[in-house]
Amino acid sequence: MDKYAVVGNPVSHSLSPRIHRMFAEETDQDISYEALQLDPNNFVTEILRLQASGYLGVNVTVPFKQQAWKLAKKLSPRAQDAGAVNTLIFQPLALIAGDNTDGIGLSRDLIVNHQILIEHRKILILGAGGAVRGVLGPLLAKRPGLLTIANRTVAKAEQLAEDFFHIWDVQTCSYEELGRDKYDLIINGTSAGLHNELPPVPDSVLGVNSVCYDMMYNLNQPTTFVNWAIDRGALRAYDGLGMLVEQAAESFYIWRGVRPHTELVIQGLRQD
Ligand code: NDP
Repeated sequence: MDKYAVVGNPVSHSLSPRIHRMFAEETDQDISYEALQLDPNNFVTEILRLQASGYLGVNVTVPFKQQAWKLAKKLSPRAQDAGAVNTLIFQPLALIAGDNTDGIGLSRDLIVNHQILIEHRKILILGAGGAVRGVLGPLLAKRPGLLTIANRTVAKAEQLAEDFFHIWDVQTCSYEELGRDKYDLIINGTSAGLHNELPPVPDSVLGVNSVCYDMMYNLNQPTTFVNWAIDRGALRAYDGLGMLVEQAAESFYIWRGVRPHTELVIQGLRQD
């Protein structure tokens, strides 16, 4: 049986083992997949130990994505842009390759699962942390009309705009500067929802046709941001469970060469 895992700290809450086991069952792949909590001070040693003990790859979650990026000897272009790795591939001759599937996960959930258009649309992203950095490249590749990043610490948004300037002219602002324009798609990439808080975004960014997307997810109730969007009359609002499943599917495909179906997995997680 081929061995895989998700590594993080904490990691016991992770849905990845359930998701990958569902993928394995559906595609008839003989794999094991566990959640392993690693010591933050020993990330590299622990990863090399997993590789030496026969694991073929790991998913990497908080707080190790940047360390995984530094460790990988070979990076995919999207991981290179993201500055973070969520998928490590242990290759022959002890080579470790790194990829980032968060961005493709988000763009598949938006475009394929929810039929949300990005091309020529006005997009507002709230937050400028690791997750937003990871998804910017794939979003910009879909050629939005305008993409604005608002962040509490504006300098972080400006740094992102600078780092992606070779792809697109990303606009940046503070929350106080928002309100003049309405946006077609508003993506919450902040971690405010982890404390049931909202980023201080004014209601006036919403138009009658605005769609909202929260990268955070809850299995059994709408997230704070989804509730905000619905209460303020957004046309549609989604949480990030689909993104989670889609990024996992892309990792599974990288490791196994087989693309699992995601729809039933997303439905199954919600029903559970
Ligand atoms: P980071 O810690 O790297 O960044 C957090 C961001 O949130 C920063 O921009 C920070 O602003 C902002 N922020 C935090 N609290 C508040 C607040 N109260 N008001 C306004 N802004 C706030 O986190 P990540 O980028 O790694 O994660 C962000 C979110 O994305 C999380 O909710 C995470 O669960 C989700 N995520 C979902 C995935 C999925 O598959 N669905 C995958 C990856 C992440 P500042 O810079 O000013 O501190």
